[in-house]
Amino acid sequence: MPGPAAFRAAFTLKWDWLRRQSLTNTLALMRIDEMLASTRPVFSVEFFPPKTDEGRQTLFETVEVLRKLDPHFFSVTYGAGGATREGTLDTTRAIRDQYDSEAMAHLSCVGETVESLREIIDRIADAGIENILALRGDPPRGEKDFEQPEGGLGSASDLAALIHETHPEIALGGACFPEVHPEAPSLEADLAYLKTKIDNGVSFLITQLFFDNQLYFDFVPAARAAGIDVPIIPGVMPMTGFRQIARISELCEATIPDPLALAMEALDGDERAEFELGVAYATQQCADLLRRGAPGIHLYALNRSPATRAILGALHASKPWEEPATAGAA
Ligand SMILES: Cc1cc2nc3c(=O)[nH]c(=O)nc-3n(C[C@H](O)[C@H](O)[C@H](O)COP(=O)(O)OP(=O)(O)OC[C@H]3O[C@@H](n4cnc5c(N)ncnc54)[C@H](O)[C@@H]3O)c2cc1C
Repeated sequence: MPGPAAFRAAFTLKWDWLRRQSLTNTLALMRIDEMLASTRPVFSVEFFPPKTDEGRQTLFETVEVLRKLDPHFFSVTYGAGGATREGTLDTTRAIRDQYDSEAMAHLSCVGETVESLREIIDRIADAGIENILALRGDPPRGEKDFEQPEGGLGSASDLAALIHETHPEIALGGACFPEVHPEAPSLEADLAYLKTKIDNGVSFLITQLFFDNQLYFDFVPAARAAGIDVPIIPGVMPMTGFRQIARISELCEATIPDPLALAMEALDGDERAEFELGVAYATQQCADLLRRGAPGIHLYALNRSPATRAILGALHASKPWEEPATAGAA
C-alpha cells in the first residue's frame, strides 16, 4: 500500500495538471466576434472605471481573481458626456496589456461631437483595443431625456456606422432590451432600430439585465424574425444586495419577478443571506440560459469578484451547456 508521501506526490501531480488545463480551453486574445464564431459559451464580465486609487486597486484585484476562471473578455463602461473617458480607456488598456485578457471599451454619444468621437475612437484603436460596445448612452445624472448633442450623434446605430467607417478592423457590439427599451413605442419599433445597428456593422449584442429567462427566450426569436442574426449574449446581474439591485433594476426598468422579490423580502435585510440567495438564483438563471443554447453570459459584476467568481466556478464545474438542450432553446 502506498504511504502518505506517495499519496501526497500523486495529489500534487494531479493538482498541477488540473491547474495547467484551461477551464474552457480558450484563447488569450481574440476579437470578440471571432471568439463568438469559434467558441461556446463565451463568458464576459462588465466593470465600470474606478474613480479612486483604492477603487482601482479593488478592480485589478478582481481581474486577478476572475482571470483564474477564464472569462473570455472584460468590458469597461463609459460615463455620460465623457466623464470617464480617460478611465475607460486606461482601464480597458490595462486589462488587455497587463492581464493579457481580451477587453472591450464601451463608448456613448452623450455630450460628444462627431469630432470628439472620432478622436476617442482613434485613441481606442491606437491603444490596440479591438472591441467597442457602441451605445447611445443614458442622459447625464439629473437629466430626464436624451438630447442629441449639437454636432453629435443621436443613436447607437449612427455611432456604429462612424466606428465601422473609420476603423473597420474593430469588432462592434451593441445593446438590446428583452423588456423593450423604455423609450421605444413597441417591440417591433425597437427591433427595427436594432436591425439598423446590425446593418451598420454591429456583430454581436448584449442584453440589458433581466431576471426572468422567458423574456430572453421570447426576445431572441422575435429578433430573428426581424432579421437580426448575430449572437445575442444575455446580461445577468446577480442580486447580491436586494435594495441596491432593486434600485438599479428600477433605473433600467428591469422587472424583478414576484417570487424572487418575496424570497428576498423574507430574508429581513440579512445581507449575507441576500448575497447567497442572489448568487444561487443567478447561477440557476445562467445554467438554464446556457442549457437552452445562449451563446454565453455577460455578468454585471459591479467591480467585485465574490459573486461572479462563485457563478463562473459553478458553471465551469457543472457545464450545463453540455447537457441536451431543453424546449424553448435560443
Ligand atoms: C450591455 C449594456 C451596456 C451598457 N453600457 C453603458 C455605458 O457604458 N454607458 C452608458 O452611458 N450607458 C450604457 N448602457 C445603457 C444604454 O446606453 C442605455 O440603455 C440607452 O438608453 C440606450 O442605449 P442604446 O445603445 O441601446 O441606444 P439606441 O440603440 O440608440 O436606442 C435608444 C432608443 O432610441 C430608439 N431609436 C434608435 N434609433 C432610432 C431612430 N433612428 N429613430 C428613433 N428612435 C430610435 C430605440 O428604439 C431606443 O428606444 C448600457 C446598456 C447595456 C444593455
